[in-house]
Amino acid sequence: MTDSVVTSQSIEKKLTELKLGGMKKTFEVRLSQAGGKEVSYSEFISLLLEDEIQSRRDSKHKRLYKKAHLPFEKGIEDFDFTFQPSIRKRDLLELATGNFLMTNTNVLFIGQPGTGKTHLSVALGLRALSLGKTVLFTKLWDMLDLLHQSRADYSFAKKMKEYTQPDLLIIDELGYKSLADQALQDLFEVIGKRYEKKSTIISSNRNISEWDKIFLDKTLTTALLDRLLHHSQVIEIKGESYRMKNKKETQKG
Ligand code: ADP
Ligand code: MG
Repeated sequence: MTDSVVTSQSIEKKLTELKLGGMKKTFEVRLSQAGGKEVSYSEFISLLLEDEIQSRRDSKHKRLYKKAHLPFEKGIEDFDFTFQPSIRKRDLLELATGNFLMTNTNVLFIGQPGTGKTHLSVALGLRALSLGKTVLFTKLWDMLDLLHQSRADYSFAKKMKEYTQPDLLIIDELGYKSLADQALQDLFEVIGKRYEKKSTIISSNRNISEWDKIFLDKTLTTALLDRLLHHSQVIEIKGESYRMKNKKETQKG
């Protein structure tokens, strides 16, 4: 029988050469199923192909996930809405469907520190990832610093693309420092390029009415707010810090 010279090893070598890692992983199991006559020839090949497809999907998901730079993993289900009654749970659940991404709607979370702005942004980021979307999370100042640095080695255009291309860009912590000149213009360019093409989530501890105090240029502030707010949902969180709640509880305990 010629069959005897076809060893599992030689097949696995070929699978490696063809970069069929998903098939390679399950090959032995599938083979013994087939040997035990549990599956037909066509089922056998179909199962192996399905294993390959699944494995590629998983690695794509992992890649997207890593590239998103989310600071932690917390979902909507981890958010205690009873602690923050100013947030309408219904609005958040609607956002969590990911429909806002289809309409390139922006989301703004406004609230004091510890009220869950980053948590909710991350939760929406996770939802977007599970829908196969590309996501990038950045603190505002990290983005502006990197854009600034990229001018020195002429990689500005490339860096700018990193922020304009993702289906969802999450800009965290706007409002801790004021913004002027180049930094403001860079932010304006990011927002302008994404306008009506991609969704952006921004979180800030300052009310939108105070943003002209962060952006030290009236004209640019108006233009920026125009683009940000045109298609947007603003979630104002009026409540206490969850961090303080934890502190109070431990102190009580
Ligand atoms: P912010 O970005 O508004 O300063 P965070 O989202 O970083 O606040 O929240 C601070 C911490 O408290 C995080 O660990 C977050 O997961 C948690 N947290 C905040 N609000 C809630 C909530 N309502 N339910 C559960 N955890 C919360
Ligand atoms: Mg935060």
